[in-house]
Amino acid sequence: MAVFCIVFSLIVGIGAIALGFTITGGAGGTMQPAAIPSPTDGDDPKVRLDYLTAVAQVELDDHSDALLAGDEQGWLDVFAPSLHPDMQKQFTSLRNLEVSKYEYMIQGTVSQLSDTQFAFRLGVSYCFGGVIGEECSDAAIVFDTVWNDDRDGFYISEVEDSDETGPRPWEVEEIEAVSGDKVIVAAPSHYAHQLDDALASAENAAVNADQYAVYGEVEKYLVYLAGNAEFSRWYGLEGANMDNVVGFAMPVPYLDEQGRLASGAYEVVMHIDRVIDTDDFNSTMRHELGHVATLNHSPTNTSQPEDWWMVEGIAEVIDHDPSVDLDTYLRQRDVQAYIDEDLWDGDLEPVYNTDDGLTGSAKYGLAMYAVYYLFNEYGKDQFMDLFERVARNGDNPDEATQAVYGVPYDDLVDECATFIKSITD
Ligand SMILES: [Zn+2]
Repeated sequence: MAVFCIVFSLIVGIGAIALGFTITGGAGGTMQPAAIPSPTDGDDPKVRLDYLTAVAQVELDDHSDALLAGDEQGWLDVFAPSLHPDMQKQFTSLRNLEVSKYEYMIQGTVSQLSDTQFAFRLGVSYCFGGVIGEECSDAAIVFDTVWNDDRDGFYISEVEDSDETGPRPWEVEEIEAVSGDKVIVAAPSHYAHQLDDALASAENAAVNADQYAVYGEVEKYLVYLAGNAEFSRWYGLEGANMDNVVGFAMPVPYLDEQGRLASGAYEVVMHIDRVIDTDDFNSTMRHELGHVATLNHSPTNTSQPEDWWMVEGIAEVIDHDPSVDLDTYLRQRDVQAYIDEDLWDGDLEPVYNTDDGLTGSAKYGLAMYAVYYLFNEYGKDQFMDLFERVARNGDNPDEATQAVYGVPYDDLVDECATFIKSITD
C-alpha cells in the first residue's frame, strides 16, 4: 500500500513573506488613550487616527485578557453583535486548546475607509498549553479587520480569516481538544470521539521524536485530526493537491520583536479517514512528529532539492527506529518493487505531483534507506550535523557534506545508493 505523507515545502513560503513584510506603524499597547488628547473638530485627520489606534490597542489588550481569564463577555465586547456567534465559537475553541498567550500587535498603520469606518491589520501571537504569563514558543496569525467609530462606540464590525498560512483550524471550526504531557490533540467536534485514542498515539510518538529534537526542545506538539473538508480549508491549502496525503506538518510563522513574520513552529494535521489502521496511524504520527522535532524553529531560508531526502528520510527513520532491522520497514516492498521494475536511476529525488503511488512511496523509502545507512555507518551526530546545515540552515549541500563527511555531496549519495542496491539485490 502506498503511504504518503508530506511536510509542506518547508520554509519557502514563509521566507518570501518575511522578506516583504515590515511594520510601518508602531503605535503600541503602552500608549493609554488618556495620554493623547481626544480629537476635536478641525484637528489634522492624523490626530484622530493616532487616537483610534491607541484606543484599539487598549481595547484589544482588554479583549485578550478576557480570553485568558475565561471571561466570554469580555472577549465579545470588542465585536459588533452580528459577529458574536462566530466569536463565541472561537472563544470556546481557544479555551479548549488551553490558550496561554494571546497578544495583539497592530500591523502597519490604520487606514480610513469612511467617516465612521477604519481598517486595521492585526497580528496575534498565541501559545497553547503553556502557563499564562510565562515565556512560550509562540505562533502568529495576521488578519484584516474593519472597525466602526459611531454612537455605539469603537468596535470591530468585520473580521477576515487570517491569510498567512491561514485560516488556522480554530478560526473556522469549533475545536475540541485533549492534552497530555507533550501533546495537545484537537479536532472539529465531529471527530472528537477519536481524540483520546489519538492522544495516546501522539504521546508515544512525541517521546520517540524528542530523542531527535537536538536543535531545541519542542515545548508542546500540536496535532489536529481532520477529514477531506478540513484538508482543503485549513492553512490556505484550498486548491492544493492533497489526494495522497495522510498527514502533514505545517510550518507556521511567529512575529519577531520588530513585528516581522519569521519561520517558527510546526503544527501537524492527520487525515483521520485515510489512516484507519492502527499501525498506519501510529506510523504516520511518529513520522509527522519527527518533522516537528527536527524542523521546529529552523532559520528562515529557501528550500533546495537536496533537502527533500534528508527531511523525509529522517522522519521515516524516526518512525521506524534506526536500530531496528529494515525487514520490518513498511515501505520495504514498495522500494523493492520500484527497483525490480528498473524504475530507480540511483538518485535521491523529491516526490513530484505527477508521481504515481508506487513512485511516491518508493522515493520516501529510498530517502529512509539513505538516512538509515548514514546513521548506522557514521552515527547520528554526523547526520544531524548535515541536516542542520542543509535542511535547516539552507547551506550549500556540497560544502556541508565536505565539512561533515569529508567527501563531495555526489559521492555521499553514491555511497548511499551502493548500500541500497546491496540490500535490494
Ligand atoms: Zn513527511
